[in-house]
Amino acid sequence: MAEATNDAVRDERPSYPSLKCSDIGFPECSHVAFGASEETLIRNAKYHAISTHSYTEESWEQELTSKINEWRRLIKMSFGKF
Ligand SMILES: [Zn+2]
Repeated sequence: MAEATNDAVRDERPSYPSLKCSDIGFPECSHVAFGASEETLIRNAKYHAISTHSYTEESWEQELTSKINEWRRLIKMSFGKF
C-alpha cells in the first residue's frame, strides 16, 4: 500500500547512467554520453572524446585515471533512451 511501491512499479523503465560532456571540462559541448552500465558509459565517452576532443587512447586513459572519482559524482541515472 506504500506509495513507494507504486512508484517502483511505474518506473520499471530501464534507466541508464549518463554523463554530460559539459560537466567534465567541455562547456561548449552538448554531448551526453550514456551506456547500459557505468563501464559502457565510460567506453562511449571515450569514443566521443577521441573523435571530438582530440584525445588519444593514452591521454584519455590518463584523464580517466585521474578524474574517474570526480566523474562518478557527475554520472546521473536517466530513464529511457536519449
Ligand atoms: Zn564532447
